[in-house]
Parts: sequence; C-alpha cells; structure tokens
Amino acid sequence: MAQKLSVIPLSYVTRVFGYLRPHWRLAAGSVALTVLSSLISLLAPWPLKILVDNVLGPRPLPETLAWLLGPLAGQRSQLLVVAVSAGLVVALFSNALHVLTNYVNTKIDQWITLDFRSHLFLHAQRMSLAFHDRRRSGGIIYMINSQGDAPAGLIMTVPMLAESALTLVGMIWVSYHIDPTLAVASLAVVPFLYYSVGFYATHIQDRLSKVRNMEAESLSVIHESISMMRVIVAFGREKHEYHRFRQQTTNAVAARVQVTVRQTIFSLVVNMITAVGSTVVLGIGAQRVLQGQMTVGDLLVVIAYIASIYKPLETISFTIGSLQDRFISLRSTFQLLDTEPDIKDGPEARPVGRVAGGVSFEGVGFSYAGRQDTLRDISFTAKPGQVIGIVGPTGAGKSTLVSLLPRFYDLKQGRILIDGKDAREITLETLRQQISIVLQEPLLFSGSISDNIRYGRLDATQDEIIEAAKAANAHDFIMRLPQKYETVLGERGAAISGGERQRISVARAFLKDAPILILDEPTSAVDSKTEAVILEALERLMAGRTTFMIAHRLSTLHHADLILVLQQGRLLEQGTHQQLVDAGGLYAELHQAQIGAKRPKLQPVAA
Ligand code: ATP
Repeated sequence: MAQKLSVIPLSYVTRVFGYLRPHWRLAAGSVALTVLSSLISLLAPWPLKILVDNVLGPRPLPETLAWLLGPLAGQRSQLLVVAVSAGLVVALFSNALHVLTNYVNTKIDQWITLDFRSHLFLHAQRMSLAFHDRRRSGGIIYMINSQGDAPAGLIMTVPMLAESALTLVGMIWVSYHIDPTLAVASLAVVPFLYYSVGFYATHIQDRLSKVRNMEAESLSVIHESISMMRVIVAFGREKHEYHRFRQQTTNAVAARVQVTVRQTIFSLVVNMITAVGSTVVLGIGAQRVLQGQMTVGDLLVVIAYIASIYKPLETISFTIGSLQDRFISLRSTFQLLDTEPDIKDGPEARPVGRVAGGVSFEGVGFSYAGRQDTLRDISFTAKPGQVIGIVGPTGAGKSTLVSLLPRFYDLKQGRILIDGKDAREITLETLRQQISIVLQEPLLFSGSISDNIRYGRLDATQDEIIEAAKAANAHDFIMRLPQKYETVLGERGAAISGGERQRISVARAFLKDAPILILDEPTSAVDSKTEAVILEALERLMAGRTTFMIAHRLSTLHHADLILVLQQGRLLEQGTHQQLVDAGGLYAELHQAQIGAKRPKLQPVAA
C-alpha cells in the first residue's frame, strides 16, 4: 500500500543542494533576480490602478505620488501619459529581467546536470565487474542520461517557488492594507491546494516508478540489439527484435499515458480550486466596491495580484507532478551512488612501484554470486619472469583464476601474494598498473588505431606507438591501410579483421609495459597463419614478464615454466610439460588426444 509520503524527503533536498555549492555565484545572482522579479510583479498592476482611479475616475493622486510627479500630477492628460508609460516601463523591465533570469537559471541547470551525470558516470565505472554482471548496461545509460537531470530540475523549482512565496507575502501585505477581508478570502484556496498536492503525491509515486523502470527497459532492449547487430543480422531476427522493442515500448507508452492522464486530472483540480478562489474574491471585491468601501482601481490591483499568485500556485502544483518524476529519478540515482563499490581499497592498502612479478596463490577459493565452488583451494607459485600455462576443459575456471589477479572479483578464501605482499594491501590503481591483459576477443574503442594503442599509456609519443606496433607485428598491416595510424575503427574495432584487432591489442599491452601479463587464449579465434604471427609477437611481449597464458592448444605451452591443470574449479595437477606427461594424468590425456587427433578435441570450434 502506498504510504503517505512527504513531497520530497529532506535528506534528498540537502544532498541535492550540495551540487549547487560550486555554482554559488550564479545561485546568488539567481536569488537577487528572484527578489527583483517579485518586486516588479508587485509594481505591475499599479499603473492600471492610477489610470482607473485617478485618470478615468475622480479620485486625487495619493500625496506621495503627487509630490513625486510634481507639475505632471496636475493635468489628467499628462497623468494619462505617465500612467501608460509607467505600465510600459514596468513591462519592459519585467521582460528584460525574465531574459536575464532565464540565462542565469539555464546555466545553473546545465552545470548541475553535467556535474551530477559525471558523478554517476564515475561511480558506475568504479563498480565491480560483479555489479555490472548483474545489471543491464541500458539501465545504467538510462540512469545517467535520462535521470541525471533530476537534481538540477529539483533545484530549479526553487527560484520559482521563492518568487511565488515572496510575491505571496508582498501581495498579502498590500492587499491587507487595501482590504483585510479580501486578503483573507484570497488565501482560502491554500489549504485545498495543499491537500490535493499531498493526495496526488501519495497516489502517483508507485506508478511513476514503474513507468521509469519500463522506459529504462526499453532503452536496454535498444542497447542490447544494437550491440548484438551482427548476431541479429546473421540469424535474420530483425523483425523479432523489432517486435520485442515494440512490445516493451508499447507497455511503457501505455503506462506513461495513464500517468499523464492522472497528472492532467490533478492540474484540472488545481485550476478549478483557483478558479473558485478568483470568483469568490471577485464577488466579495465587487460587493465592496458597490458599497463604496474600496475603489475599482484597488479591486483591479487585488485581482491582478490574485492572478499573479494563483498562476505560480497552479504551476507549482502542476510542477509537483514533475517533481514526483524527479523524486523517482533521484531515488534510483542516489541508490546507485550509495552502492559502495564492492571492490575497493581497504584501509591497509598502499601504492606500490613496479613489482618484480612474483605471484603466489595460497588456498584461493572463489564463487560467483549464486554459484558454488567456481574455484577451490588453488595454491601455486610463479617466480618473476616465469611463464605459467593454464589448461583444462571448458568451464574449469581458467579465466576466473586469472581475473582474480587484478581483483576484478574478490576472493572468498585464501590470498594472492604479489612479490610476497597480499594483493589487498596494494591500492587497486597501482595493482592494475602491474598487469597487462590480452583477451580472447580483442576489445577496441571506436577511434583511430593510434588512439587505441595509446590507451596502454596515455602519454606515449607517436614514435613509441609505432615501436609498440612493430613489436606486435602490426606495423606492416597498419601502413597498408589508407589512413595508416589515423585509420578510424568502427565501434569495438569493426573495420579490421579479428587477427589485426588482436595485434593492436598486443601493441597496447606492449605500450603498457607491465611486469605481469595475462593472455586469455589470445589466438584461439584466428587462423593458424595469423596465430604464428601473433605468437611471435607475444613471445617478444612475454620476455622478462611473469606471464599467465590460458591455452587450449597445448603445443603453445611446451616451454612454460609451470602448467596448471584445472578441472571443475580444482587445481588437479601442476608441473612442467614433461613432468605432467610423465605423470600420466589429465594433462597427459589431453596431450595425447591433441597429438593423436587430426583436429585437437579441445580446440575451440569457430561459431
Ligand atoms: P573456457 O575455457 O570455456 O573459457 P574457463 O575455464 O575459462 O572456460 P570460466 O570462464 O572461468 O571457465 O568459468 C568457470 C565457471 O564459472 C563456469 O562454470 C562458468 O559458468 C562460471 N562463470 C563464469 N563467469 C561467470 C559470471 N560472470 N557469473 C557467474 N558464473 C560465471
């Protein structure tokens, strides 16, 4: 059941206003402009009052005004010109102020939105891979892009509220001096407005929250489909994806329409309340004019005030609808910001310089969320500069084992030592500086080849980039491309072949020049000729680095210093190639199968 909620919880408000602090000068300007605008709106109806009461009507000008105007106050024709001109000046001033206020407020709005989106983006990047495994990227994109403007939206309602509040106070004060009864009557609508806003806020939140989730889901469908384009085209599933998107979006549209209908009914109710308020004030006011207790000009002033205060009240009440929307956005974005990264520096973490590269696993155990014993009791030691081969059937836990080294995931049991130091005692930043990774699927950014290689070390010179490309056997093919190093790759490096992409990712690793290297089946997706070229480059890359190499083709591991044989998360055997062949266990079996068969059993079959 929807509980009674205040419009916006106070804790959110204080947090949101933290984003205003860096822009306090603009905020101060906005406050000054707001006060000025309120004063101008108080002045606005007075030229009309003078016109009606003192030019068209028989009344003399108030003494102070007569003194201010001097000889101009004497003649009606001159007073008419003064009153009409004053009306024009007030209108011009009010419009100029409006433009200036708009400029200042738009600046505040845009800067706060940028700050908040950047904060969300940074935080999303800090979250662990385990977190991202559980979330859909479309949802995060939706949050950063579509919900990232919530704090600014909330803050920007403040000048409007403040202007209305100031005008309200001024209006009550002036109206009270004109006619106290009328002033009280004009405020009679406030409790009704307050109640309807509260009712609306309580009844709309759940619906809005659902609509937001559905809209995020629609974006996830688009995001997933676009990133899976090749599979969709290959399977001819364009129509299927189109229907999936239509169905999801249709549900979101239907829910959004329902919410909008409720918002419109709410604004209708608010408009009705203020219309009744205006009618009551007009009726009582006309009565008092007939009784000679106030002038027509006074009535015009009060009516103008009522219009100028009911209008913002209507807008505020309607804005409560969008405030609810922003509140829902705030709740989900703050939830993301409040989710502590599960992998972060502990209190004992210290930065380290370049390590020698000794790595020991001591009784390491790990499970993915919802799984059991992905890795159990893994212990081995790699000396600096050694090559460690990792083999085992598919799903044995090979990739998981190497992903624990850069702390992509945290251990459940045991510890990993780097040069004798627990990896958790090294800051994440410096730990990851020690490790280069070349994956089975080379992931590249859209951008030039130069930029992609430079990703290994952002301050590398062009000469260093070319040197890294040469070492990775990539230079020749790059030079054959029309734009050479400036060739722009498509998303994920489309526009060059898989083998070429892999060589660029090897060049990137060369440039990083880290003492520990992880090679996760880097040649499994390429043909044997390209494999030879990449392996040659990798051998150069491995020199002097502690290397963990996952391979299905055991022939690539003959010279490894230590081979780890994994099965179902357990370290079944470890030793050199010869020792393991002699031992006659699983490794010997795999080896036999590969040299015996025309096509090695464990070699991955291209999809
Ligand atoms: P392959 O040779 O096929 O690449 P692998 O030996 O590298 O396999 P891992 O990728 O380490 O195997 O997977 C080990 C086990 O963990 C598998 O059972 C797999 O289903 C599971 N697993 C892998 N990634 C995740 C994940 N992100 N969440 C949950 N379980 C996972």
